[in-house]
Amino acid sequence: RNRAERLNKQTQQPVRQATRFEDLPEYKRVMTQKIAGEMAGIANPFYRSHDVAAGATTRMGGREFINFASYDYLGTNTDPLVTAGAKEAIDRFGISASASRLVAGERPVHIELEQRLAKLYGVDAAVCFVSGYLTNVATIGCLMGPQDLVIHDEFIHNSVLAGVKLSGAARRLFKHNDAENLESILKTLSSDFRRILVVVEGVYSMDGDVADLPALLELKARYGFWLMVDEAHALGILGANGRGTFEHFGLDPRDVDIWMGTLSKTTSSCGGYIAGSSALADVLKAEAGGFVYSVGLAPVLAAAAIAGLQILESEPERAARLRHNGNLFLECARQAGLDTGLSLGFSVVPVLVGDSLRAVQLSNDLLSEGINVLPIIHPAVPEGMARLRFFITCDHTEEQIRHSVAVTTGKLKDLQDRNFGLGSIDM
Ligand code: PMP
Repeated sequence: RNRAERLNKQTQQPVRQATRFEDLPEYKRVMTQKIAGEMAGIANPFYRSHDVAAGATTRMGGREFINFASYDYLGTNTDPLVTAGAKEAIDRFGISASASRLVAGERPVHIELEQRLAKLYGVDAAVCFVSGYLTNVATIGCLMGPQDLVIHDEFIHNSVLAGVKLSGAARRLFKHNDAENLESILKTLSSDFRRILVVVEGVYSMDGDVADLPALLELKARYGFWLMVDEAHALGILGANGRGTFEHFGLDPRDVDIWMGTLSKTTSSCGGYIAGSSALADVLKAEAGGFVYSVGLAPVLAAAAIAGLQILESEPERAARLRHNGNLFLECARQAGLDTGLSLGFSVVPVLVGDSLRAVQLSNDLLSEGINVLPIIHPAVPEGMARLRFFITCDHTEEQIRHSVAVTTGKLKDLQDRNFGLGSIDM
C-alpha cells in the first residue's frame, strides 16, 4: 500500500510514518555524486582495499603502489618495537579493557602512556580516550555549556564542531589562521559568556599550514580565554625533537591550557589524548561522558602508542626525515607549477585541483600509474577547492617523491582540457 494512503481507522487521520532513509536529503546527495561519477565514467576512489600494512608503499590487488594516503608519519606502524609491545600487551591483558576504566580498572599501560604524554608536554597530567575524534567531542562537550562561547579557526576539524554542538555553547569562527580577525571578534564580545574557548590545529589537516601560536598566546594573555591546540598532524613532526607546535616556536607548552592529539597518526595506534593540568585531567576523568561511559583504551593500543612515543623520543631523526621529505615534496611541486595552497611542507601537502570530478579522476589516473593518493572533495572542503592530499612519511624516498610529483603534474595537465560532459559538478 502507498504510505501516504494509510489512515488511522478511528480518526481517519493519516498515520505518521517514519522518514524513509531513501528520502533523506543526505541520501539524495550521495546518490547524485554516485550517478555523476558513473555518467562521467569515473570510478569511486574511496575505500580502496589494501593487502598489507600501508605506509610509504602499499599493495592492492597484488600490485605495489607508492602510498600517500596513510598517516604513518614516522613509519612506526610495522616497527618491531611497536608490534612486539602490542603482542606482549595482548599476551598479558588480552584485547579489550572490557569496560570503562572507572569500572574495569586501569592497566599499567594506561598509566604509563598518560605519564609519557604529560612528560612530553611538560604538564601535570594526560587522559586518553578511545579515538581522537571522541577526545574533541567529549572534552569540549564536558568543559563547555550553553552559557559559554567556542571560537575556532574556520578550517577546524569536524570533531571540534561536534563537541561544540554537544556542549550547547555558542560558536563563532575566525578567518583561517588570522589572529587579527580573532582579536576583532574578541573585542566585540559581551562579557556575558561564562567561559571562552579558542580552538586551533597545530598543523591544519587539509592545508598543511601551522597555527600562529605566538600570536594566539599573546591574545590569550590579553583576553583571558582557554586555548586548545589539536596536535593530530603536528606531534612527531614539528620541532627538532618532534614534540609539536610549541617546540617549533620555542614556546612553553604550559602556556596552552589544553593540548589535544591523536594516537592514530604519529604513534600508529588508535585513540586520542588531552594533556594539561591535573585539575583538567581530574574533571575529564570524572565528568566527560566519552571517558566515563565508554570502554577504556584497549591495552594493546596503549602499549603500541607507548612504543610509538619511545621511538619518537629516541629517534628524532625520523621527524627530521619527515620534515625533509615534506619540504622536498613542496619544493618539487611548486617548481612544477602545482598549486600547493597554504602548505608549509610538513606532514600534509595538498595539490589543489578545483572541481571535485577532476580531483577524483586525477586520483584514479595516478592509481593506474602506481601512486595511491586520495582526493578531498566537497563537503570536506569548500566547493571549487577540491584537492589531492598527500600525507608525507619519513620513509618516502627522494626518488618516490620526485617521481610522484612529476607524474601528478603530467596527469593534471592531461586533465586540464578534459570536458567531463557534465560541466562542473561538485561532488
Ligand atoms: N583532529 C584532527 C585535526 C584530525 O585530522 C583528526 C583525524 N584525521 C582527528 C582529530 C580525529 O582523530 P582520529 O582519526 O584519531 O579519531
